[in-house]
Amino acid sequence: MPTYDLVVIGTGPGGYVCAIRAAQLGMKVAVVEKNATLGGTCLNIGCMPSKALLHASEMFEEAAHSFAKMGVGVSAPKLDLPAMMNFKQQGIDGNVKGVEFLMKKNKIDVIRGTGRIVGAGKLAVADGSGKVQTIETRNIVIATGSDVARLKGIEIDEKRIVSSTGALSLDRVPGRLLVVGAGVIGLELGSVWQRLGSEVVVVEFLDRILPGMDGEVAKQFQRILEKQGFAFKLSSKVTGIDTSGKTLLARVEPAAGGPAETLEADVVLVAIGRVPYTEGLGLKGAGVALDNRGRVEIDAHFATNVKGIYAIGDVVAGPMLAHKAEDEGVAVAEILAGQAGHVNYDVIPGVVYTTPEVSAVGKTEEELKQAGVAYTVGRFPFTANGRSKVYQTTEGFVKVLADAKTDRVLGVHIIGREAGEMIHEAAVLMEFGGSAEDLARTCHAHPTRSEAIKEAALAVGKRAIHM
Ligand SMILES: Cc1cc2nc3c(=O)[nH]c(=O)nc-3n(C[C@H](O)[C@H](O)[C@H](O)COP(=O)(O)OP(=O)(O)OC[C@H]3O[C@@H](n4cnc5c(N)ncnc54)[C@H](O)[C@@H]3O)c2cc1C
Repeated sequence: MPTYDLVVIGTGPGGYVCAIRAAQLGMKVAVVEKNATLGGTCLNIGCMPSKALLHASEMFEEAAHSFAKMGVGVSAPKLDLPAMMNFKQQGIDGNVKGVEFLMKKNKIDVIRGTGRIVGAGKLAVADGSGKVQTIETRNIVIATGSDVARLKGIEIDEKRIVSSTGALSLDRVPGRLLVVGAGVIGLELGSVWQRLGSEVVVVEFLDRILPGMDGEVAKQFQRILEKQGFAFKLSSKVTGIDTSGKTLLARVEPAAGGPAETLEADVVLVAIGRVPYTEGLGLKGAGVALDNRGRVEIDAHFATNVKGIYAIGDVVAGPMLAHKAEDEGVAVAEILAGQAGHVNYDVIPGVVYTTPEVSAVGKTEEELKQAGVAYTVGRFPFTANGRSKVYQTTEGFVKVLADAKTDRVLGVHIIGREAGEMIHEAAVLMEFGGSAEDLARTCHAHPTRSEAIKEAALAVGKRAIHM
């Protein structure tokens, strides 16, 4: 008899949530974690620390530039970076402790060490001292997450040339920060250091920022960031960094080829994406198939090609987002319990936690065009939203994309303060197959920024009130 019904490898948001749901459904569950703390990338070196620093640096920026106009007189704020890092660490610790508590509460065994799959139903876990224990289980869920993608020929030392992990723990504000990659992580961490005083230059291979997000939103967002002090070098690539001197010398070439220029920086942040993490898992020996991008291949029920072995989260295809991993964790646990676990990949919100925030759910205009779907657009700017006007934070707009024939909402894109909180009414509406008319006829509290969503939905039918 195997000891467990389910062993989950990895305790990131995919793994720990999967374990909890399986325990709720009556399974005997264990998690295996090689890190000293539970919670994975998200809690330790991802979502949580980045949001703590984004919040703290935003307060610093507000105190310096926004308080006075509201009649709040304070002397110029002074940065205490160690205290800010301590604030970040307290946030991490609180969340990690929360996961530990949830493991105990749900009677989930936590096995410390690196898990290697020996075969279906069998795992070897090696702890730090080299001691190996074998665990038998009916099912295995691989939730080993992802690691930073590296640039060929550029070595990340996490001091001067950093990944997101190093950028979350710098011990001083770099005078000049060069960010390689204009994706979510590069722009969020670039924002943190820009607010604290760095001159930030972002080099991006593509001719736009935020690849994958709506083009119109990305364009306006770029303008806003430039106003804040960001400089962008689009259609460009960093091909090498000379580390021999006091300052770093980055060689930047046009993406299409051409003469190189040199950019000086004190710190370079490499933020070109993340890759699935399967090192040491023994997948080859166990016969588990990977796809051509190194992700664990799964079917529509999260099953790999080996019976009894499943995979979820960053290590499989799809957006590398914590909530996507969580929902997959719930779904696979329910499937293992004989239920109809399911994730609706058409309705996974995405948020950039900058100021203003950017959020999106569903299709972009580019995707609809490419798919040949006829659509109508409703836009509403925050300059016409009462709450935003009184707060004097009117940057951005809401954009609703609806099917031209059926009026069904296909995508919602927001750039503006609190956009990350506002996107969920659109997500709920889309889960229920709602129309722009449904959104427009739903009473919204006044004054709220969310009224801009209602107005954008009204604008789909060309009848916005405040515009
Ligand atoms: C800087 C940054 C900011 C981010 N911000 C956000 C955000 O705001 N919102 C959002 O949705 N997403 C964000 N993400 C992405 C998010 O962190 C990931 O999508 C999420 O953590 C994926 O969860 P996961 O469970 O698949 O894997 P992970 O969280 O990566 O967890 C995997 C775990 O598996 C463990 N592990 C790996 N191999 C083994 C093994 N063989 N044995 C035992 N344990 C093993 C690892 O130690 C790790 O703890 C951010 C990422 C970064 C880097």
